[in-house]
Amino acid sequence: MKLPPVEYEAPKTVSEAVELLAEHQDEASVLAGGQSLIPLLALRLAHPAVLIDINGIAELSGVSATGGWVAIGAMTREYVAEESETITDEVPLLAAALPLIGHEAIRSRGTVGGSLAHADPAAELPAVARALDAEFVVRGPSGERVIPAADWFEGFLTTSRRADELLTEVRFPAAGQGMGVSFQEVARRHGDFAIVGLAASLTLSDGAISDARLAFAGLSDVPVRAGDAEDLLVGERPSAELFDEAARRATGDSDPPADVHGSPEYRRNVAAALVRRGLRAAADNAGERQ
Ligand SMILES: Cc1cc2nc3c(=O)[nH]c(=O)nc-3n(C[C@H](O)[C@H](O)[C@H](O)COP(=O)(O)OP(=O)(O)OC[C@H]3O[C@@H](n4cnc5c(N)ncnc54)[C@H](O)[C@@H]3O)c2cc1C
Repeated sequence: MKLPPVEYEAPKTVSEAVELLAEHQDEASVLAGGQSLIPLLALRLAHPAVLIDINGIAELSGVSATGGWVAIGAMTREYVAEESETITDEVPLLAAALPLIGHEAIRSRGTVGGSLAHADPAAELPAVARALDAEFVVRGPSGERVIPAADWFEGFLTTSRRADELLTEVRFPAAGQGMGVSFQEVARRHGDFAIVGLAASLTLSDGAISDARLAFAGLSDVPVRAGDAEDLLVGERPSAELFDEAARRATGDSDPPADVHGSPEYRRNVAAALVRRGLRAAADNAGERQ
């Protein structure tokens, strides 16, 4: 299907992009990898008057580690992040999730910032960002803001980014000693969006859990943390009984959507199974990071 007629701008710097966003506000869409936006345009589900193509802004790509954080430029392609040794070493939960996004062809164009700005609740990276308390750096006409992941995702395909702001970078905390991770999901076919996904991490200190993080994809209109289950886990030693109870607490109050892929009850059951699997896998690999 052909795209609708649309004005096209290709800024070369972040400042130019921000000026264009300030000028066009809600009338503009930022074009990153185009893997979500172009289909929306083709299907006439998005109607921007102006496309601001940020593919030519070199300063938006790259991965760097400083001060216990890993900063990823918004235009960093998903496959570049997947192949980054810094991400493999320092943010293993993100490294586990990246290969589950679509297929190689999609990851070779799709960007880390694009996925997080698009905020599909079934996507992998939003769940990872929520689990790890990532920070979102946006630039607008009045300067830079840093938004915690808890405040970034506001609803279905909706974030707290203002119309005149560009997402420039996402920062993830580097994994500490004793941290084990696992990304689990159930999808109809490899490469499909998850019906339910789970980002899980456990930190073990002297055999006991000192930190636990669980964030679901596909259970709500935003990625959701399972705070009650996390609280239950901290201070305890890993065991099958503990993980069963964590699965009950993580899913008991959930109100998943119903669609052609599954009923709320089905999603709740899948989510509980993913918690058990994810915690077991995270506990098993926590010992590798001493
Ligand atoms: C067949 C197929 C299967 C897929 N499967 C999966 C999957 O399993 N899991 C998954 O997570 N994703 C999947 N995707 C989506 C893929 O990950 C996309 O790459 C991603 O959602 C969007 O990234 P993008 O760079 O292509 O962004 P674009 O499509 O260019 O943009 C997406 C949205 O984000 C906005 N945006 C992008 N960058 C910025 C920025 N820097 N600042 C402000 N706004 C910005 C755009 O304006 C647009 O609204 C799939 C896509 C396809 C086509």
